[in-house]
Amino acid sequence: MAVTGGCLCGKVRYELTAPALFGGFCYCVDCRKQSGSHSASMAVPEAGLKISGETREFATKGDSGNPVIRVFCPNCGSAIISKGGRAGVVMLKAGTLDDPEQFKPAASIYVSRAPSWDPPRPGLPAFPEMPPQG
Ligand SMILES: [Zn+2]
Ligand SMILES: [Zn+2]
Repeated sequence: MAVTGGCLCGKVRYELTAPALFGGFCYCVDCRKQSGSHSASMAVPEAGLKISGETREFATKGDSGNPVIRVFCPNCGSAIISKGGRAGVVMLKAGTLDDPEQFKPAASIYVSRAPSWDPPRPGLPAFPEMPPQG
């Protein structure tokens, strides 16, 4: 089954041909600012994601010190992906899926920064910041 999605105005579209590696919610400040609440993202292999349409990028510095690049539609502003955390892996914004039920959240990260009005979902593993590596 093809996994497809796109931005609000429809000028940016994508097709995902590889299965998602994992998915979850991020409550970091940068995601809060960009999304207006928290981000729901699925990690996908960059090679398995084909994006069409013009996009723009905005870079911030992640906790690791490496840049995090957020890719969005310049027409409607919808966030599409972020990348930079792991080589060859991009975080696809699950809310842009044509069928949002294709997203299976498995964990919450940076929950120490969640505002009181947006508590992490009960029942999901929650990490105060990034999960321990390895
Ligand atoms: Zn758009
Ligand atoms: Zn985040």
